[in-house]
Formats: sequence, structure tokens, C-alpha cells
Amino acid sequence: ARQRSERAARMESLGQLAGGIAHDFNNLLAIILNYADFLGEEVSDDGTRDLARIKDAADRAKALTGQLLLFAKREPTEVGIVDLNEVITEAGDLLSRTIGADIQLLCRPRSEALPVYANRGRLDQILLNLVINARDAMPEGGVVVVETDLADVHAEDSTPLPPGQYARLTVSDTGTGMTAEVRDRLFEPFFTTKPADRGTGLGLATVYGIVGDAGGHISVESALGIGTTFRILLPPATENADQVTEPPSESRAGHG
Ligand code: ADP
Repeated sequence: ARQRSERAARMESLGQLAGGIAHDFNNLLAIILNYADFLGEEVSDDGTRDLARIKDAADRAKALTGQLLLFAKREPTEVGIVDLNEVITEAGDLLSRTIGADIQLLCRPRSEALPVYANRGRLDQILLNLVINARDAMPEGGVVVVETDLADVHAEDSTPLPPGQYARLTVSDTGTGMTAEVRDRLFEPFFTTKPADRGTGLGLATVYGIVGDAGGHISVESALGIGTTFRILLPPATENADQVTEPPSESRAGHG
């Protein structure tokens, strides 16, 4: 448990640092983009091409700082009751387009609704991150299975969660799998094995933070050359107000 909280503290301070830098950087990028726009109205054709490059680089940098800000949770989020089944069924189209033709996507929602207490956008983000990672682990194609069900946690289980019933989201792939070294570090911010233009190392750190905030737990099982399975357990939402940490009224009023 001590190891977990040290890790959480390290994540927290890295998050604050990253968030601070990203925030200032975003402002600077806005200035660069603004002046590039002004200049664009004044310069010759050659200059316009160079300016387009500057803008392109600044736009990419902005996308990156956007990811950092999300990771650092600078953006406020509304929390409400969300059906985990809806998250996986409604994301189908987007996910199919994301993964490409060589990869088969199987979506297996539980037969009954699976309400959890969370932010819808954040759940989408979790799913997208896991599926993108699955895709990247299957350069030759393969199968991704996205599944939801109810799972029992027992006192003797190795998860730090209190015993009880949880909503479970499982994403598994038939990809490369990973070594024990990678598995030990994959939730660390900025840890990536991908080339710099593909990976930021923030995907799973963000997922880890979101799941933790929602009172859940994420685990990974992986075998080299066989594939990887991520399992996320989230406390099910109940009508019982005691179980609820934040008032649901706010998000109902928002209505999506
Ligand atoms: P990024 O995708 O930007 O590298 P992540 O935090 O999402 O950052 O992932 C960190 C690392 O974990 C990846 O670079 C990869 O080595 C490993 N990883 C994540 N998901 C998988 C997977 N499904 N199969 C194999 N390796 C994975």
C-alpha cells in the first residue's frame, strides 16, 4: 500500500509540474500563432510557405500541450451516472475508424445496463487510449475485444479495492504483448516505447489517474507474442446517496 501511495504522490507532482508548464506553453503558442497570422497577410509567397511550417509546428505543439493539460486535469469535469455499455457501443464507429482495416474490433456489452459514476468524456478517453495502444501493438493486424460485465472483488484478491461488486471494462488485444520491464512502468507519465512523433507516454498515465479518481482500479496482464488485456474496475453507481461522493444533480442539469 505504501508503494502505491508513493507512486500516486509522484504521479501527482509530475502532473502538477506538467500542467504548469503546459499552461504557460499554451499561452506562448497562442502568441506565436497570432503573430504568424498577422505576418501571413504581409509576406511574399516564399515567406508564406515558411510561415505555414511555423504554424504547423505550433499547431502540433498545441495539440501536445492539450494532452498534457488533460493529463494534469486542469480542465474541470462534470460527473454523473453513465452506462458503461453505452460508452463502448457508441464509440464503435470512432474506434473502427481509428484502428484500420487489418484489425477486427469486437464489442461485447453486458446484457443489462452497467451504470457507473463518472465523467462521460473521460470514460471515452480511457477507451480510446486503450484501443489506440492495442492498435499500435498489432502492426500486422489482429483482434481487439472490448467488453463490459460485472465482477466480484473478494477480500483475498490482490486489488486494493474493498470487496464487492464492480463494473468491469476489459480491453484485450492479440498484439505483441510487453516485457515485465515495460509492464512495471507503463502507467508512469512520459514512459513510452514508441518513437517521439507517435507516443507521448501520457495515455496510460491519464487512464490511471481517471480510474483512480473514479474510485476504481486498473490492472494489466500481458504475454509476449500473445497479447495484452487491460481490466478496469469501477464502483457501480447506485441510488444509494451514501455511495455517491459528489452530487449527481449538477451533471443531470448539464444534460450532456
Ligand atoms: P504511448 O502510447 O504514448 O506510448 P501510453 O502511456 O499509452 O503511452 O503507453 C505506454 C507504453 O506502454 C507504450 O509505449 C507501450 O510500450 C506499452 N503499451 C501500452 N499498451 C500496450 C498494449 N496494448 N500492448 C503492448 N504494449 C502496450
